[in-house]
Amino acid sequence: MSASLDVTSLADAEIHRLREDFPILQTQVNGHPLVYLDSGATSQRPLAVLDAEREFLTTLNSAVHRGAHTLAAEATEIFEDARATVARFVGADDDEIVWTSNATEAINLVAYAFSNASVGRGGAATEKFRLGEGDEIVTTEMEHHANLIPWQELAARTGATLRVIPLDDDGALRLDDAAALIGPHTKVVAVTHVSNVLGIINPVEQLIAAAHEVGALVLLDACQSAPHLPLDVKALDVDFAVFSGHKMLGPTGIGALYGRRELLEVMPPFLTGGSMITTVTTTEAEYLPPPQRFEAGTQRVSQAVALAAAVDYLSAVGMPRIADHEAALGQRLVDGLFGIDGVRVLGAGIDLPRVGLASFDIPGIHSHDVGQFLDDQGIAVRVGHHCAQPLHRRLGVTSSTRASTYLYSTEDEVDAFIEGVAATIEFFGVRS
Ligand code: PLP
Repeated sequence: MSASLDVTSLADAEIHRLREDFPILQTQVNGHPLVYLDSGATSQRPLAVLDAEREFLTTLNSAVHRGAHTLAAEATEIFEDARATVARFVGADDDEIVWTSNATEAINLVAYAFSNASVGRGGAATEKFRLGEGDEIVTTEMEHHANLIPWQELAARTGATLRVIPLDDDGALRLDDAAALIGPHTKVVAVTHVSNVLGIINPVEQLIAAAHEVGALVLLDACQSAPHLPLDVKALDVDFAVFSGHKMLGPTGIGALYGRRELLEVMPPFLTGGSMITTVTTTEAEYLPPPQRFEAGTQRVSQAVALAAAVDYLSAVGMPRIADHEAALGQRLVDGLFGIDGVRVLGAGIDLPRVGLASFDIPGIHSHDVGQFLDDQGIAVRVGHHCAQPLHRRLGVTSSTRASTYLYSTEDEVDAFIEGVAATIEFFGVRS
């Protein structure tokens, strides 16, 4: 463990102990101990999370908010407790958390609230959500496609204009341009907190303040921050935030939307059907208040219970300590890659704090070959464009290799990865 970490930081012994909670980390891949550096794509799950889901499924499994029987009542209680746990984790009130299947669905939910309001759904109260020609949606060139395409589609449906905050040559957001782009016509600003390619923590406070100054709403993509940093949606003063359970020790199939209560109260729903209504006739329906209004259909109860167990696990370790540990690993990743001749670290010149995630290109070696070579040594990384083609295009590459850590990652794993990258170059015989 880095000597620079203070006494409250995660110690080596503690990390080795908590790794025992993750059986998959003890497995071998291609004859080598698994070095899992793909937590940015999906994280591993501790036994406490697997046990919580199994316990629910073996003792209480039933549909929530409906049945009159005991199991349904108890399942409803534990489902709503899970919501409260996740709400607390991000600084929200219980009824400000809407369950979705992932962050992608959560962003689409908000984008469709805008387009439904724009065709008159929701009545006068939806003024802030109404878009038409002359209105502007602002996002950035850095976004994951999940926080870009829903806004492209929204612009196409409403006639609004999509404006994109550009990146500088290093890959950082050009904040001067952002200040000029966010203006009186801006209705919504959608920005990522942490880049899923560069690992930098964006100075989103400035964008949030600029958006609010002109009366625009802000959606924060917290997919790569909620799992790795203490996140307080109220302190950040965002209107919406989204995250996915599978990136924060939880299961796939569940994510969450945070929305300010007064906004959720007026927003028209995205998905409609059962479980989100009060009265229905053959021609119209009255909707429940939020969050149920946005949770159509039978809910993912065991996944919610497991996600609550995941955030309990993270909270017990302590998010500030996880953030410290990963910042140190992230720096070690960048320094190690930087020291290898022939490696270009994307965003290396950006002077911003980082999480434990870095992407790189080796001119002359395709990222798929890099990933394959590392996999032969049991090292799992992500290759490709990481659902961020505009960012890669801006940096002049079509793809990259990404290593991403989590609380269970060790310095030894980062070092093994760095050695693996050096060996890759040796093997393919490429030097800059
Ligand atoms: N936003 C960011 C920054 C991401 O990293 C991801 C996933 O990689 C997403 C959005 C989409 O998450 P999901 O596929 O879980 O909906």
